[in-house]
Amino acid sequence: MKSSYKIAVISGIPIELHISFIILFGFVVFFSILSGNFGTAVYILMIFTLVVLHELSHSFVARKFGVKINKVVLLPIGGVANMGEIPRDARKEFLIAIAGPLLNFGFALLSGIAILIMGIQREVLPFFTMQLTSPADLIVVFFKINLILGLFNLFIPALPMDGGRVFRSLLAFRMGFTRATMLASEIAKALAIFMALFGFFMPNIWLIIIAFFVYMGAVQEAEFASLSALLSGVRVRDIMSYPVVTVSPDLTLEEFYDFVFKHRYHGYPVVEDGTVIGVVSFTDLAKVPRSEWNNLTVRDIMSHHVITINPWESAFKAMKKMSEHGISRLIVTENGEMIGVISKTDLIRIIELQRLIE
Ligand code: ZN
Repeated sequence: MKSSYKIAVISGIPIELHISFIILFGFVVFFSILSGNFGTAVYILMIFTLVVLHELSHSFVARKFGVKINKVVLLPIGGVANMGEIPRDARKEFLIAIAGPLLNFGFALLSGIAILIMGIQREVLPFFTMQLTSPADLIVVFFKINLILGLFNLFIPALPMDGGRVFRSLLAFRMGFTRATMLASEIAKALAIFMALFGFFMPNIWLIIIAFFVYMGAVQEAEFASLSALLSGVRVRDIMSYPVVTVSPDLTLEEFYDFVFKHRYHGYPVVEDGTVIGVVSFTDLAKVPRSEWNNLTVRDIMSHHVITINPWESAFKAMKKMSEHGISRLIVTENGEMIGVISKTDLIRIIELQRLIE
């Protein structure tokens, strides 16, 4: 089942709604129509339009630095811009991270000026009241939402939130990316625990959920930074396996079992007429009951998902590619020709070796 659905494409960037968001929003709209009060629906619609614009603001700056933007996904807890690797460059990361909150502060400033000029008399505090009875309320709500979004994203210095990225990039100017990430991640974890406790006593369930995501994000950032440091300077060609042991698609599974036994690799590229048409592993074989092994061939169980990498790419890139696609093996190709295979095992071996040396 698809987990998110595309609703629009803005300047080449697909905007998707996550299924959980659609369900939640559906409920809100349903109940606000039922109670004859459209205010809540309008309020939530405005929040998420602004969240999309916020993520697009990050995305446009990132794209200026050559980062590939895959999509923007809306979740009930906010938006996520799914993008390629952000350059490990303090200045670029700073500008990408600050672009979102700056847009919100810009909107807040403009609507704040409009409120003053039009002489709208509304209580700006408390923040979370939403009276939508006249068009003038709309501009006050717009002002409040932008102020909250800007402040919330920028002034919680916890990775992976914007404030955390700004904080990390500022640290990175002084101590290098890896150390900055480690420090920022520790602070983020502490803040997440604090945020969760705060959410527990308020009580505010969103705060607890966001705290959970911040904590997990911080752990992941630190892990990536440490792996990236351990793998730095290592290229795919340094650790790939070659010559490559390939398998024919016409082998029966019984024959394939003997083949695995003889060569003792876990996975193999499937080659037909000189081209790689798939990848097959011992795990694929183990999923098929033994009674079927004489009736099926490698072609029936192989994965058609062949992901390749250039031998001159970094080993870290190979690791990211594997985790992005949820696979444990990449085919190394140069000028369209297969010259090796790199597997998770190859990467883990190098990481363990580097850890020992450290
Ligand atoms: Zn942001």
